Amino acid sequence: MLSKHRVVDLLPTKHGHFIGGMYVDPRGAEVYTNIAPAYDMPLGDVAVGTADDVQVAVDAAKAALAGPWGRTTPSERAKVLRRVAELLLEHRQAFARLEALDSGKPYSEAYEGDIARSAYNFQFFADLTAHQVSPSYTSDDGTLHTTLREPIGIVGLITPWNLPLYLATWKLAPALAQGNAVILKPAELTPLTAMAMGNVFNAAGLPPGVVNIIQGFGAGGAGEALVKHPDVKAISFTGETTTGEAIMRAAAPQLKKLSFELGGKGATVIFADADLDQAVATAARAAFRNQGQICLAGSRLIVERSVAPQVIDQLLVAVRSIKIGDPLDPMTTMGSLVSRDHRDKVEKYAAYAKSCPGVEILCGGKIPSDYRQGAYFEPTVVTGVAQESRLIQEEVFGPVLTVQVFDSADEAQNMVNGTPYGLSCSVFTRDINKAQNFARSARMGLVWLNTWFSRDLHTAFGGMKRSGIGREGGQYSLDFFSEFKTISMAMRPY
Ligand code: NAP
Repeated sequence: MLSKHRVVDLLPTKHGHFIGGMYVDPRGAEVYTNIAPAYDMPLGDVAVGTADDVQVAVDAAKAALAGPWGRTTPSERAKVLRRVAELLLEHRQAFARLEALDSGKPYSEAYEGDIARSAYNFQFFADLTAHQVSPSYTSDDGTLHTTLREPIGIVGLITPWNLPLYLATWKLAPALAQGNAVILKPAELTPLTAMAMGNVFNAAGLPPGVVNIIQGFGAGGAGEALVKHPDVKAISFTGETTTGEAIMRAAAPQLKKLSFELGGKGATVIFADADLDQAVATAARAAFRNQGQICLAGSRLIVERSVAPQVIDQLLVAVRSIKIGDPLDPMTTMGSLVSRDHRDKVEKYAAYAKSCPGVEILCGGKIPSDYRQGAYFEPTVVTGVAQESRLIQEEVFGPVLTVQVFDSADEAQNMVNGTPYGLSCSVFTRDINKAQNFARSARMGLVWLNTWFSRDLHTAFGGMKRSGIGREGGQYSLDFFSEFKTISMAMRPY
């Protein structure tokens, strides 16, 4: 039985890997220092995983699949996953604190959002897998055909830093529900909550080796070794589009099954007939939640000309009410960015905006004067940006919102679709026909009408264009983590 804070207390300040149900030292000696970005404070040394560590994890996963886990039924697996969800909720405060320290996000957001939703991922996929049925069909000659699902075997999960535990569990839960063994490589900037999950999996009774967690770097390190390992049969990856390209190249010689959730450049469209109070409040949340570091962020506001002055005024009021601060302070609504390097990247985009003729920075655009320590950046609103500008075409992945003005629905649609990405957009209007036409023409995997970030786990999640390949969510996730086998049986004629 884990005591209330033991999940976190058990974590050493030197982090190796979690393999075969144990926290183990890495094969090599190299470590890097993990930093709490809000305080520039070291959180301990983390192992730089290598191909040797990946091999140990593969061996542990193979042993787990050859043991009782390989013979579990969906309802047996569902029981373990439900226990994982319960334990996560029991330790919600400890996990939220760890996530806030590691990533710089507000504790309240981690508690209400990331950790609660992580627990729900396990609950949801436990229920879904327990209720799956295999489709059967009798052909004209009387043969009975049944398509069965089998585990793929060992799957690799590679995750980013922006929603560390939420996105890891979004992959772990369906992969385990389908009976696979997994090797997770969390982002190097946010290794801690994934690491703490080792204790939870053990306490929930998951057999050793079913989940293995390798820390370290992606390119040239543990991530790449995982992608290239011949016994890792599928890779589910969330991260940058260019990393997806590299993973696809590395996986190509072995024809691995791949699922990619990649970058986004989301838009919020406000028509003049919208409920402007609701639309502006949502647009501000869409742009600045999690310091703008969400693939689904509405980082482009596209507003009808007749209401643009009013929308901008209201927006600036909303932005001024954002409380930048210590992630552990309950009043904080905007924490630190994930690292100083990332903050520097965002600052460069702000500097670029300042250098562009016609572009005006309405607020922010700089490091807050009270926060020289940490990786803070002010919520920033920019107008006068041309569609072809880097500020519109590239993913800034920080608290920078561009505002563009349109005169017709077609023009707004062209702006929304006019980037290489195709993940998400929100449209605000009271005209149901206009909303539906817009939704049908958007080249986006997710379209929200009069809302944002409304996610139901049953539905398909993923992007078009350079935002991804494949879909996750509900049955789509279970399908990805399954091998299908059709068995056809001759039946005795009547
Ligand atoms: P990233 O740099 O692509 O890294 C993601 C993960 O891939 C990290 O664990 C990283 O390790 C690893 N990695 C890097 N290069 C690799 C390689 N060659 N082979 C194997 N693994 C490799 O992304 P990020 O900066 O962490 O996350 C931000 C990005 O994620 C944004 O583009 C955002 O839009 C996207 N995202 C998309 C979604 C979605 O659902 N579409 C959701 C969230 C985030 P290191 O940490 O060591 O680099």
